[in-house]
Amino acid sequence: MKALQYREIGSRPEVVEVPDPEVGPGQVLLKVTAAGVCHSDEFVMSLPADQYIYGLPLTLGHEGAGIVEAVGDGVTGVKPGDAVAVYGPWGCGRCLMCAQGKENYCLNAVAEHIQPPGLGAPGSMAEYMIVDSERHLVPLDGLDPVQNVSLTDAGLTPYHAIKNSLPKLGAGTTAVVIGTGGLGHVGIQILRAISGATVVALDVNEEKLSLAREVGAQHAMLSNPDAVDAVRELTGGRGANAVFDFVGVQPTVDLAGAMAGSEGDVTIVGIGGGALPVGFGRIAYDVAVRTPYWGSRSELIEVLDLARAGSVKVEIETYSLDEAPKAYERLHEGRIRGRAVIVPNA
Ligand code: NAD
Ligand code: ZN
Repeated sequence: MKALQYREIGSRPEVVEVPDPEVGPGQVLLKVTAAGVCHSDEFVMSLPADQYIYGLPLTLGHEGAGIVEAVGDGVTGVKPGDAVAVYGPWGCGRCLMCAQGKENYCLNAVAEHIQPPGLGAPGSMAEYMIVDSERHLVPLDGLDPVQNVSLTDAGLTPYHAIKNSLPKLGAGTTAVVIGTGGLGHVGIQILRAISGATVVALDVNEEKLSLAREVGAQHAMLSNPDAVDAVRELTGGRGANAVFDFVGVQPTVDLAGAMAGSEGDVTIVGIGGGALPVGFGRIAYDVAVRTPYWGSRSELIEVLDLARAGSVKVEIETYSLDEAPKAYERLHEGRIRGRAVIVPNA
């Protein structure tokens, strides 16, 4: 079959022919219907050899959806023909975190070398993929796979980040979203759907700001130090109740820290390497700073429910598997509007 692989440190991903995967006990073989292109893939492919932990060659794709093609011995919860989305942050299934569905924080994943598809295990950018357990599948229940595949990360990650701040986001509050790309443009919609907050979007690109307004941000402005005063003004001097940084570079983390008002939340989702010094007097009183990773199994079910209710719609650009390298080029150049989705079996 064809797969999109990262094959050499520092190279660009390429479409190659690889052996068809065979399903083992407890596993599920999917014919992939859709695979999302995430900025984290860019991050992974930018790592020097001494920091790269995902194995080579790596079949990319940690956002996946498919049709069950075959099931291994012992699989009883899904059957050939079922349309499913893949829960990506695989865990052991037995530890305290996994027992709560929080496999994104599995206590045994590192020791047991459990890695997500596309981030260690072969991912969804291929004609077929293996899912290690039926536990990691959620029925699409009528949702279109191409339209919704990115909810498995670009939806689930902001949903998890936002859900933890909900007690602070009642009516009359303000939430800031920094970076309105794949994750950010879904985050804006989630905030509008499940919180009472007024949403202020920040980006460095005017086209992304217009997308932010289209998907529900009440205010959108360029991401620069002037935005701190603008947010103070919009909030009557109080500062933001929550700031979600979907970029995470030093300039955006600085902005996030400066914008948060007393008792606010700063949530750094982007993995740009920025750091926020926390200490008395450095940020407003009682600000909480968090760095969440992906989301839980139950949260994926909830985010798909939001899509089914029409509250969240991913803005997509579609590409065939052969065109996938081009999608990554466009992501690299910051030119994707919303999310790029690869359709391997188009
Ligand atoms: P994306 O490329 O689709 O979007 C990034 C957006 O940020 C773009 O709109 C870009 O114009 C904007 N941007 C860039 N520099 C900026 C700046 N200085 N100020 C404001 N906006 C700026 O990326 P994505 O796929 O949405 O991923 C966003 C980030 O989240 C990445 O760092 C990614 O690796 C990370 N991520 C983290 C998790 C997690 O679990 N923590 C999960 C998925 C992705
Ligand atoms: Zn991702």
